[in-house]
Amino acid sequence: MSRHRNVRGYNYDEDFDDDDIYGQSVDDDYCISPATANQFIYSRQERQAPKGETLEEEQDEEDVPMSPTVIPNLDPLDQAKLFSCLDHMRTVLGDAVSESVLTQAAIRCGFDPQKALDAILSEDAKTALLTTSAGEETAPVARVNPEKAPLPQRTKQEKAKSRDASDNKLDSEVVPKVARMTVSGKKQTMGFNVPSTGENGVVAAAATLPSEATPKRPETPSRVSKGDEPSTVPTPGRSAGKARQSINIKAELEKRQGGKPLLNLVVIGHVDAGKSTLMGHLLYLLGHVNKRTMHKYEQESKKAGKASFAYAWVLDETGEERDRGVTMDVGMTKFETNSKVVTLMDAPGHKDFIPNMITGAAQADVAVLVVDASRGEFEAGFEAGGQTREHALLVRSLGVTQLAVAVNKMDQVSWQQERFQDITSKLGHFLKQAGFKDSDVFYIPTSGLSGENLVTRSSVTQLTSWYSGLSLLEQIDAFKAPRRSVDKPFRLCVSDVFKDQGSGFCVTGKIEAGYIQTGERTLAMPPNETCTVKGITLHDEALDWAAAGDHVSLTVTGMDIIKINVGCVFCDPKEPIRVCTRFRARILLFNIEVPITQGFPVLLHYQTVSEPATIRKLVSVLHKSSGEVLKKKPKCLSKGMNAIVEIQTQRPVALELYKDYKELGRFMLRYVGSTIAAGVVTEVK
Ligand code: GDP
Repeated sequence: MSRHRNVRGYNYDEDFDDDDIYGQSVDDDYCISPATANQFIYSRQERQAPKGETLEEEQDEEDVPMSPTVIPNLDPLDQAKLFSCLDHMRTVLGDAVSESVLTQAAIRCGFDPQKALDAILSEDAKTALLTTSAGEETAPVARVNPEKAPLPQRTKQEKAKSRDASDNKLDSEVVPKVARMTVSGKKQTMGFNVPSTGENGVVAAAATLPSEATPKRPETPSRVSKGDEPSTVPTPGRSAGKARQSINIKAELEKRQGGKPLLNLVVIGHVDAGKSTLMGHLLYLLGHVNKRTMHKYEQESKKAGKASFAYAWVLDETGEERDRGVTMDVGMTKFETNSKVVTLMDAPGHKDFIPNMITGAAQADVAVLVVDASRGEFEAGFEAGGQTREHALLVRSLGVTQLAVAVNKMDQVSWQQERFQDITSKLGHFLKQAGFKDSDVFYIPTSGLSGENLVTRSSVTQLTSWYSGLSLLEQIDAFKAPRRSVDKPFRLCVSDVFKDQGSGFCVTGKIEAGYIQTGERTLAMPPNETCTVKGITLHDEALDWAAAGDHVSLTVTGMDIIKINVGCVFCDPKEPIRVCTRFRARILLFNIEVPITQGFPVLLHYQTVSEPATIRKLVSVLHKSSGEVLKKKPKCLSKGMNAIVEIQTQRPVALELYKDYKELGRFMLRYVGSTIAAGVVTEVK
């Protein structure tokens, strides 16, 4: 698991003061949950009774295990093995199981922690052991001070290397790798450093390019290859960096992952609808979280008084998220279905974190909308102020067309068909208005908590009496894989920037178009500077190339990290993205209360950027379906209108026209905490 530091707007002076922090992601907390972390901080020496003192003073009734006596009939080697085995088991089980039970299991399993844990966790062993421990006297156990070092913070490369050895690793380490997507617009004190802004705000992209790479920008990005022709892309003219080897990217993509296409899936819905629980449970059922880790989460969440959140903790991994019981960042992880490799993004439902949700949704191909079927709760999420409608509208506006609706917590309403139908008819009506085709919306009754209808079809008779459709996983598998723009010039929107070990630094983001190979040079816009791609990792695996649709991490050299912010676009130096502060767009206004007039201030959410902007001009009002101009230069725009407007951003942003790159031509406008419009870029000024 990894969390990356958002360096946009970061005050580096403060950072450099702390040598310990610089050089690594400060938030890295690989696999350490808060409770486990405490165990590492805790000094077991302190827990040992000082010599001569009776142990009783330290023990509470249930806490028998801390006896410092050595088991007499074990030789020193076995004693050591026992201690190491016990320590390992404690990191998984905490204090949930008594020391005597652990010791017996460890001895019986030849000090193999894995086997011993399995024995304890499996039902039979548990009963057997419990009986023994009740009947026998607790075996006194010696404790060594393990002086456990905190888990080493591994670099991405190390993680990639260790992948080969992963077969040997203990099951207890099996947790889904949840990456975090950080979102811009929090503190933007650094600003973009753009060298020269041309007349109308358009940056002369080529101005600071090395002369041999300076292209004459085509009016629209030209396709490197067309149609279904194999897109073998030789670039003989490229002199900077390693010459791009000619690869047949489509054929390579076919080969990769056994021909399984990649699907980026975002989970959306009102806060507390059960998104994290649903997906956490799904990952557990798919074997991405093993019994032991789940048991640990159960123990820890119980201790924290949030037992019902155990599955949600699989994805909500930060202390704050767990304390507050809400998802804040976008958690990203990977799983596979029969025919797809799925990148799962768990978006926050709370309205305070809508910008984070937009970032997740902007990178999604399909969505799972989770609604709470409990009485009153569906209504609260669906009505004004709820996030169900806003999220659905947002994902549709950001280009998602296929939607699975998980009608969740059906256990709360005894799996009633009427309740399901009531919800689906209300939602269906709304989703149609929001632009989803009926044939692309699928409703699935689920219970994230009990795991019904998630991976396999449910056998609950209350449900099977009226539902014989797909389970959630089957539906995800049935989604149509999107067409990727692999044959367009390379584009990657930066969602995170961080310093790793070694030279250079890392940027993460989704490749929206084209492909990239290691050794190639790429251009960052803004700040309009080139760098070399030294390494590419996809889901922690080192690769030689990656293509449109992939969420990757690039290690780049030859550029100062300070110049790169969340929201920058890495692109093909020969066919760079445009950077501007003024552009024209066609917008659709949502349910706004205040009409929009000239000079109206908004926050522009575009891919991973959120940038203050103003509506500079109201150009025309359009007919909703025909697009015909109804009125020129209107005085104001009100709800539901379709219009052409000119938008002025405070600082330059990298944009594409919708007609050239659908993925990169969409944006959202927000005003004082609500989304007021969705738009597409029609002209860069
Ligand atoms: P999120 O905010 O949408 O991610 O919701 P969480 O996954 O954090 O869940 C919120 C609460 O709903 C937790 O207490 C969960 O245990 C509970 N919950 C989630 N799914 C179900 C379900 O299917 N049935 C019931 N009864 N409770 C659920």
